[in-house]
This record gives sequence, structure tokens and C-alpha cells, in this order.
Amino acid sequence: MGFEVWVDLILFFALFALFAYIFATVTITNLHKLYLLFHFAMMLWPFCQFAIKTTENPTFQLFYVKLAFVSSPLLTTGWLLFTIFLTGQSKFLRRKVSLFLFVPALLAVLGVIVNPNGWFVLPVNGGYIQRAYGPIFWFNITILMIHFIVSLYIIYLALVSNNTPRIKKQVMHMLRGILVVAVFTMMDIFLNVILSQYLPVIPGMASLGVLLSAIIFVVAIHRDKVFDIVNIAHQDIIDTIEHGILVLDDNEIVVEINQSLLPHINLRIGDQFNMADIFPHGPTAGNIEWFLHTYRERPLERIEIELLHPRINRHISIHSAPIMVSGLMVGRIITFQDITELRRLIDETILQNKILQERNEALIKIQDELFQTNRKLNQMAITDSLTGCYNRHYLTQQLENEVMKNRKYQISFAILLLDIDFFKLVNDNYGHLAGDEVICNTVEVIRQTLRRTDILARYGGEEFIIYLPNTDESQAKLLAERIKSTVESNKVIIENIAHSVSITISMGLLSINDFSVENILNPKSYLNDLFESVDKALYQAKNEGRNRIISVVR
Ligand code: GH3
Ligand code: MG
Ligand code: MG
Repeated sequence: MGFEVWVDLILFFALFALFAYIFATVTITNLHKLYLLFHFAMMLWPFCQFAIKTTENPTFQLFYVKLAFVSSPLLTTGWLLFTIFLTGQSKFLRRKVSLFLFVPALLAVLGVIVNPNGWFVLPVNGGYIQRAYGPIFWFNITILMIHFIVSLYIIYLALVSNNTPRIKKQVMHMLRGILVVAVFTMMDIFLNVILSQYLPVIPGMASLGVLLSAIIFVVAIHRDKVFDIVNIAHQDIIDTIEHGILVLDDNEIVVEINQSLLPHINLRIGDQFNMADIFPHGPTAGNIEWFLHTYRERPLERIEIELLHPRINRHISIHSAPIMVSGLMVGRIITFQDITELRRLIDETILQNKILQERNEALIKIQDELFQTNRKLNQMAITDSLTGCYNRHYLTQQLENEVMKNRKYQISFAILLLDIDFFKLVNDNYGHLAGDEVICNTVEVIRQTLRRTDILARYGGEEFIIYLPNTDESQAKLLAERIKSTVESNKVIIENIAHSVSITISMGLLSINDFSVENILNPKSYLNDLFESVDKALYQAKNEGRNRIISVVR
């Protein structure tokens, strides 16, 4: 075998090395996988070119020729896909155009495989090392040309559109790779097929083109991060995010619909979008009017609306924002978010809050009632039920504090103990109820003679005690006299009794103005001591004939 046989094998190995290199050194993304497939198809060409020349068997030779020409439409299809993805023009794939691009390629592959009547290739000199190509070969070449032209067209579109400089750089790499392989392939066809009768065969032309373009792609992948992982990540995020995303160009044509939105909206890339179609037809609520009006009239504003979708019964939040490039609006991004759960939580929270507030109000009411009841209970605990004046327990408690304070600051005070004279007679003569009436009435008149700070308490039965704070002996005597005479002159009128009832009282009066005598440690026993003194004085008043005051001083 001559040198020309090995050229293709060497080129094949070079391509294989590049393949391995890419595989080993870059993070594999879907775009990389696509490229590797494409690269693999590229490797088949030089391999077949080499393999044809290694066998004498025409069947094997035909197999390798076919394999090479099966790989070539696949290669250019791969190119085209690659160009389309790289330039972000995936809309080409959704249009009917894609059928016209890929179906003929498949037919060509079929034609090559079947080779009906030798319309693809016929042997020369009994083998396929030298061969005569038929119309299917030229059909194949035509498809290569069409793929090449469409690729160039897509590249042209990418270069004149609003793509970023980085994408344009990627596209330029693509252009270089395609041009190199195209020029070499055409030279191969021209020199080795058309002019094959006049010129010696130049080996490895197309294979060299394939290798050179592969090198260009590999350099691009490595140096410029052509398959920028961030870009791919962005697309992945857009496609996996729960929000529906719709991107429109400045003519309201759909340029992107993410995976989440696709099942819910009857729109495809390239369709005309009409915002009003989103909303249910018929009479529209005021906020929808506002939203549509703002959407049309003030496109630069970011606007948002919440909508209860009647068919699916879900709350959707629709948000529209302009896409700006250097201060110019180039399109809009519209997002759809299902906020049903959020809305439900908010409604639930509002409801719970209302319930809580009601419970709070009820609690406050109960608390208020409790406070009032407590106040009444407290009042009852310190009040005598018959007369409404304080009870003995209260007075004792008050005096425990008061006497200590008075002693500490040496403030004179007095205690008055009074008892109704011959009260048993009242009861006996008029009955117990009338007796009660006399007690109450007497308390009332005594209370009227007292000062605001004096404390009147029922000591027991018809005995009462009066604490006179900040009062010296003479003031106390005056007050006692006044009480005595008031009671004496008071005429108690009782129902069903013809004449009024009058009573007298006897009093023991104790005035304290000497604080030097003893050092008091226990207020209770001191108080008992005082009560004993005043009780003695009362006893003495009774003994000395009643209706009088016996005054003692300590
Ligand atoms: P004196 O005090 O002058 O010695 O004679 P007295 O008749 O008032 O005798 P004493 O103070 O010992 O008796 C008090 C009587 O008062 C005994 C009891 O029947 C009566 N009494 C006590 N508490 C009440 C009461 O709440 N209502 C009525 N109606 N009578 C009472
Ligand atoms: Mg009495
Ligand atoms: Mg008594």
C-alpha cells in the first residue's frame, strides 16, 4: 500500500485523538454530547477513505464507500443542528422548515445504503477504489450544499441580530469551521471526482478539511468556552423553574416559552401574543382594565395582576416587565406564578386572625367581668353586710399599718369604741328587724358627723369602732361629743311603728400622743393592747350610767 492509503488513517487517528481530548478535558454538557456525535461522524469519513484501500474485496469496499457517504449527510445534519443550537435559533427546529432540511438527508442516506441500479456508485475495474458516481451521489452533494447554505444563512441571521458579542464570537468560530470543511470538500469533489480523469488522485482532501474544522471547533470549545456552562445553566433554570415564562419580542411575537408554561398556554414560538386573550372573556373587572391599559399604553412599566382563573380555579399572578438593551425596549418578559397556595394561606391567616381577635375580645370581656367580680368580692370581704360600713377585720388590718406609721412619725391619733345602750330592749319591744333598722340608721347619722379620713367599722353586734387619724385628745373629745349628741337627738322612724325610736350610746375614747413609752415590736399585740384600753373605757362608761364618754390618754 502506498502513502496515500495511510494519509486517511493518520487523519482518522488525529481526529480520534481530538475526540479523546475533548472527552477527557471538558465538562460534558448536552451540547458537548451533540458535538461529540458530530465529531464521531467526522471521524467516519477518513476512516472509510482508509479502509476502502485496505481490502481487495469489492463487497467490503462498497460497504466503506457507503459508510462514508452515509456519514456525510449525518455530518452536515449535525453541523446544522450544531449551528442552530449554538446561535440560539432553535425556532428553526419547530417550523416545517426542519422537515425540508432533514427528510431529504434521510432519503439520501437511504439511497446510498440501497444503491438501486448502481445509481449511487458503480465499480470501475471490478472494484470500488476507483468508482463512478451516479445521480444519488449528486443528490447527496446537493443536500450537503443546501445544508451548507442554510448554515451560512443561520450564521448570517445570528450575526445581524441583537446577540451579545460573546455569541457572535461563537458564531464566527462556527463559520470558520464550516468554511474550512466546505472548501476542502469542494476541492475534493472538483479535483478528485470531476477532474479525476485529468489529474492524479490527491489523497485525504476531504479528511483534511474535516480535521481542520474539528481543530477549529476544539480550539473554540476550549479557549472561548463556546458551550458556556452558565448559558446552559440559565436555560436549564428557565425550563425547570415552576413559574411560567414567556418572552416576547418588540412586536409581541413569542420567542421563548419555558417548559412549565407550555402545557397551559395555547401558544408556540413564532405566534402573535395578545395579552387580552389571557383573561376570561366577558365583562372585565376594573383591575384587569387597568392592567391591559397600562400594558398597552405604558409598556416600560413593570406591572402585576392577580387573577382567579375560572376554569382551573387557581390564583395566578401575572407579571409583565420590559426587556431593555442600552435603554431601548427590545421585548417583554411575562411570568405566570401559581399563588393559589399562598392565597389560601393568606386567607387562612386572615380568618385565624379574625377568630383570634374575637376570642381576644371575649377574653377581655371575661377578664373585665372577673375584675368587677373580684372588686365586689374584695369589697364584700371588707364590708359589713348589714350597715355597709367596714368590718372589724378590715379595720384591724388597716390599724396594724397605721399605728406603726403614726408611732414612727409621732402623729397623734384616737380610737373610739361605742355601744348602743339597752339595745336588747329595742329588740324586745319592736322586734329584731326594727332593731336592724335602728342599727343602720344610727350608723348613717354617725357617718355624717365623721371626717373623710376617719374609718368607721362594725366591731360586733351593736358595737362600732372609729379610727380618728391625725387627731389629738381635744379634737377627739369634740368629735365624740358631736357623735353622742347627734345619735341622741336622732329619731329613727320605723315602718309600722307609730312613734319614732331614739337611742343613746356609750363611748370609750382612747387618745395616743405619747410615743416614747415603749418600743413596739409586734403591731398586733400593741393593737390588742389599745383595744383592751378602749374597751375598758367603754365598760366604765356603761358602769357610770351610760350615754357618756370616758376618755383615756396614752
Ligand atoms: P347595754 O349595752 O346598755 O349594757 O345593754 P344592751 O341591751 O345593749 O346589752 P348588750 O350590748 O350586751 O346586748 C346587745 C344586744 O344587741 C344583744 C343582741 O340581741 C342585740 N344585737 C346584736 N346584734 C344585733 C343585730 O345585728 N340586730 C339586732 N336587731 N340586734 C342585735
Ligand atoms: Mg349595748
Ligand atoms: Mg353590745
